[in-house]
Amino acid sequence: MSKFQEYDFSGKKALIRVDFNVPIRDGEITDDTRMRAALPTIKKVLTDGGSVILMSHWGRPLKEIKKDPTKDFAQFTLKRIEDHLSELLEAEVLFATEPTGEEAKLKAAELQTGQILLLENLRFTQHEENGDKDFAEALSKLGDVYVNDAFGTAHRAHASTAVIAQFFKPEDRMYGLLMEAEINAANKVLNKAQKPFTAIIGGAKVSDKIMIIENLLEKATDIIIGGGMAYTFFKAQGGKIGNSLCEEDKLDLALDLLKKAEEKGVNIHLPMDSIIADNFSNDANTSSALNTEIPDGWMGLDIGQQASEAFTKAIEASKTILWNGPMGVFEMEKFQNGTKAIAEAVVAATKNGAYSLVGGGDSVAAVNKFGFADDVSYVSTGGGAMLEFFEGKELPGIAAINK
Ligand code: AMP
Repeated sequence: MSKFQEYDFSGKKALIRVDFNVPIRDGEITDDTRMRAALPTIKKVLTDGGSVILMSHWGRPLKEIKKDPTKDFAQFTLKRIEDHLSELLEAEVLFATEPTGEEAKLKAAELQTGQILLLENLRFTQHEENGDKDFAEALSKLGDVYVNDAFGTAHRAHASTAVIAQFFKPEDRMYGLLMEAEINAANKVLNKAQKPFTAIIGGAKVSDKIMIIENLLEKATDIIIGGGMAYTFFKAQGGKIGNSLCEEDKLDLALDLLKKAEEKGVNIHLPMDSIIADNFSNDANTSSALNTEIPDGWMGLDIGQQASEAFTKAIEASKTILWNGPMGVFEMEKFQNGTKAIAEAVVAATKNGAYSLVGGGDSVAAVNKFGFADDVSYVSTGGGAMLEFFEGKELPGIAAINK
């Protein structure tokens, strides 16, 4: 059992950093996944007989308002999620209009067993993102115990995600259940992988994924490279890639990654063919081509049939799978098949006993779009944080708890 699970919260005020940065359109929450993901942690504290003070950021108010003065703080207030949170928890949620300050102090001090207090958006002042120590200390005074359950912001050294931990005794600071699950999933893949371990890396740019690939060269047996980033590898090897995405300044790097993989005995799987289009559009004319022979005026927007089959074979032979990034422009129906085939292969491998982790941005959107989220072992809620974890970086939000 973990520290959080063992901790007795009865009579304690738990100050919980959650990630309630949910998408809101026209005042409506369009996806409450992040809120639901924090519920088990909140409920455990309440069931124990404790009370809960929730703190989160929402969007980037200061930056956005500076850019567009017609915007105001009302468009960024966490008050907008209060009712929905109340519905999810089936309990009243109190609200403090400033995260620190007299009202928050008073409401926190008067909080009774079983009550929930939500603090206003932490990013209404610069203190949060600056990692201001006084702000972190003022927040810390509101609760008896600090729980970090905001994996999505664990890669930021902000006041409420990292700096605050020092104001609690080591036994009174800990991860929540979501954070624990994310860390366990990432560790299972990065540090305890059963072999063969296949990493599927896709997406638009090689430059975004260099550090992940380099870190995975130390860990994986197989790396599948798909999506727009694959064309830089073909161009680097002398292939004709037409108008496909290419980072000209990363050609040497692509060759270097291939060489390193060979030295380390890691199998790199590049897609041999593509679905090509004469336009970046769902209405484009399409055809298929080998990735060494894409005609000028055409661009590869999805992996082709041969690549799909080869990748599927490698995935289905794996015992551990990490997937980050789509195989093509899956947002457009014409170019979604490669990503869908890879999702199906990951699902099949999982059914066969493999451990599969889907993490970081668009691959999560893809498994959700195709309805496979429940058929893989773990879908991460933390985009940027999971990416940095895969890159082998120590996340400030994790380090602060462990110090
Ligand atoms: P990333 O955020 O780096 O994982 O990239 C995801 C984005 O890459 C998605 O929006 C995809 O549409 C895009 N993408 C994937 N494959 C291609 C491709 N062949 N050409 C252009 N964009 C692509």
